[in-house]
This record gives sequence, structure tokens and C-alpha cells, in this order.
Amino acid sequence: MSYDSSNIFARILRGEIPCNKIYEDEFALAFHDIAPQAPVHVLVIPKGEYLSFDDFSSQAPADAVAGFYRAAQKVVAQLGLQAGGYRILANTGADAHQEVMHYHLHIFAGCDLGSMVRRGLV
Ligand code: AMP
Repeated sequence: MSYDSSNIFARILRGEIPCNKIYEDEFALAFHDIAPQAPVHVLVIPKGEYLSFDDFSSQAPADAVAGFYRAAQKVVAQLGLQAGGYRILANTGADAHQEVMHYHLHIFAGCDLGSMVRRGLV
């Protein structure tokens, strides 16, 4: 599968669609999920065109990978999530129901998130 630049996150990055922005730097953009599944549900996306965890982690330059994860941690800190805890998740491929084919991290927080894998739930 090749990267399709018409995906919704690419359109957000180009400013064609608005987002509820939390954080942005040269490597990443973070914004609130449009359909939150927890009191805090944030998406962090890299600025580059990468399909998935596999694509990003294997193909992106090292500074982009480091910059992206540093940005995700800044989002966690900015939102003050360390005290209560949080969950980071990256859906990848069909079994994980990845809907948007631009790599992204979900950050969930703000309540007891339950056990790690619950079918149909966060
Ligand atoms: P995934 O299943 O991991 O690909 O998750 C995609 C996520 O993107 C879902 O949680 C959606 O609610 C979210 N989403 C889709 N469109 C938008 C949008 N325009 N703004 C913010 N979040 C979105």
C-alpha cells in the first residue's frame, strides 16, 4: 500500500480541515480526537507522509523519529497526564482497525482505562 495524501490527517496537516490543536512543532502535530473514547483522547501525528508504525519506524530519518516521540512526550507533559497515568496506542492494519492511513498515536487519559486489551473498548 502506498501513502494516499488525500487521507484526513494529511488534509489537517495542509490546513484544509481544522483541528482542535494542542501542540505543534517541526516534527509533529497533536490535536483532540473528534470522537473521544476517554475524557482525554489526543492524536499525535508526524509531519511526514508515513502510513503506519512500521512505515514510520523503518523509513523516517532518525531525527524525525526522535522528534516525533519527544513531541508526544511534550503533549503528555503539557496536559499533565503523568500523575494519573495514560495509555498510548497505535492501531496498525486490519486487525487493529486502523482507519486513517497516516501514522498516529492515540493518547488516552482522564479515567480508569481498564485492562490493556478489551475487545470493542479503548
Ligand atoms: P485509527 O482507527 O487508529 O485509524 O483512528 C483514527 C482516529 O481518527 C479515530 O479515533 C477518529 O475518531 C479520529 N478522527 C477521524 N477524523 C478526525 C478529525 N477530522 N479530527 C480529529 N480526529 C479524527
